[in-house]
Amino acid sequence: MTSDLVHHGTSFDGKPLGFGTLSIHLGNGVDAETGAIRRPITLANAYALPYDPSDINWSSSDVNLYTRNGHPNQRYLEEKLARLEGTEDAVVLASGVAVLAATFTTFLNRGDHAIFSDTTYIAAYRLLNQILPEKYGIETTIVDTSDPQNVADALRPNTKLVHIETPANPTLKVSDIKAIAALVHEHGEHTGTETLVSVDNTFNTPYNVRPIDLGADIVIESLTKYINGHGDALGGVIATTKERTNAIRFTAQVNFGGIISPFNAWLINRGSVTLPLRIRQHNASALAIAKHLESIPSVRFVAYPGLESHPHHDVAVSELARPDSGFGGVLAFGLDTDHDGHNRFVSKLNVITSAVSLGHDESLIVFLGEDDERQYLYPPEFHRGFFRLAVGLEDTDDLIRDIDHALSESGFAVQ
Ligand SMILES: *Cc1c(COP(=O)(O)O)cnc(C)c1O
Repeated sequence: MTSDLVHHGTSFDGKPLGFGTLSIHLGNGVDAETGAIRRPITLANAYALPYDPSDINWSSSDVNLYTRNGHPNQRYLEEKLARLEGTEDAVVLASGVAVLAATFTTFLNRGDHAIFSDTTYIAAYRLLNQILPEKYGIETTIVDTSDPQNVADALRPNTKLVHIETPANPTLKVSDIKAIAALVHEHGEHTGTETLVSVDNTFNTPYNVRPIDLGADIVIESLTKYINGHGDALGGVIATTKERTNAIRFTAQVNFGGIISPFNAWLINRGSVTLPLRIRQHNASALAIAKHLESIPSVRFVAYPGLESHPHHDVAVSELARPDSGFGGVLAFGLDTDHDGHNRFVSKLNVITSAVSLGHDESLIVFLGEDDERQYLYPPEFHRGFFRLAVGLEDTDDLIRDIDHALSESGFAVQ
C-alpha cells in the first residue's frame, strides 16, 4: 500500500525512491470511502460549504469549494509532477498552451521585456511575438537560444522572463539550459531584478532532462504529449515554487478559467504511470530510425539531437538526467523532392499515421510545408518542406519497414 513514506519520496531505509516507483505510487492512494486502491474521478462542480461560509476566500485554491478553484484529481496529478520535475509545487491546467499563456501573463507586466527562442510551439510564438506586445504592452525579442551569447546580448534592465523551448518544435534545435540560466541569473543580480528562466520541456519530459536541476526557474510541459502518452486528453503543467504556483492559480486558473477537467486530470495521471517505460522505448526507437534515415540517399537531412551529426549533440548529451535517458521520440527530416513528393511518400505509409501531435502510443507524421509563418526563422534545410515524425511505441522494425516501403512505393531510392 502507498505509505506516507512513499509520498515523501523515500523508501523504508531512508533512500530516495526511483522515477518509476514514484510514477506509479504518487498521485494514487486508497479511497477513504470504499477502500478502493485507486483514487476515483471526482466529477462535481461544487463542494459542501461549512456551517458558516462567511470566512471563506472565494478565490482560494486550497480548499474544495468550486472545481475551477482546484479539485482532487488535479491535485493528485500535481503532487506527482512536482516530484518528478524536482520542484516545490506544480499547477496543472487545461492544455499546454494554457500553461504557456499562464506563465507569460502571470510573470510579465506592461513595460516588461521577454526573450524567447526563435523556434517555439506556434502559440508561444504568437503570444510573445504578437498578442502580448500588441494588446498588453510587453516588449519581446526573438533570439536563437541555441547560442547562449545571443541571450546575453538581448538582455535589458527590464527583462523579466527568458523562455526557451528545447528541443524546439519542430526544428529540434537544442539550447544549453545551464549556460542560459547562469547568465540570466547573473544579469538579474547586477540589475537587482528577478529574471526568470522558463523551459518548455515537452519533448524531453523529466525522464530525459530535468531543467530545474540545470538552473531553470519554471518548467512547462504539454501533458497532452508524452506524460499522458495515449493521445486522448489535453493538459499542461507548470512546475516551480509554491509562491509562483499560487500566483498562477490566482491569475490563470481561478480568474482566466484555465482549469483542467477532472476526467482529463485522471486520464493523464493514469497514463503517466508508464512514463519511464514508454520514454525508454521512444528514445531507443527514434534513435534507430534517425540513424536509418541518415543512411538513405533520398533523405536530404535528418534533425535529431541523439545523432552525432546534430549541431548541438554535445549539449544534448550534457543535459541528460540519468544514465538511461535519451533524446526523445521526435525527429525532423526532409526528402530530396518537392511538395508533391513529400505528400506522395506519406500517402504510402501503412503503420505511421498522418496527423499532428506527438507523444502518443502510435507514430504520427506531419508534413510541414513551405508556408509556415515562422519559416524565416528555421535553418535553411527546413525551407523546402519537411516532416516532423513522432516515433511511437510500435515495434521499431515495423516502423523502419513502413518507411522503406513507402519510400520505394513513392519512387525514392532506399539504398
Ligand atoms: C503541443 C505542444 C504545446 C502545446 O500543448 P497543447 O497541450 O497542445 O496545448 C506546447 N509546447 C510544445 C513543445 C508542444 O509540442
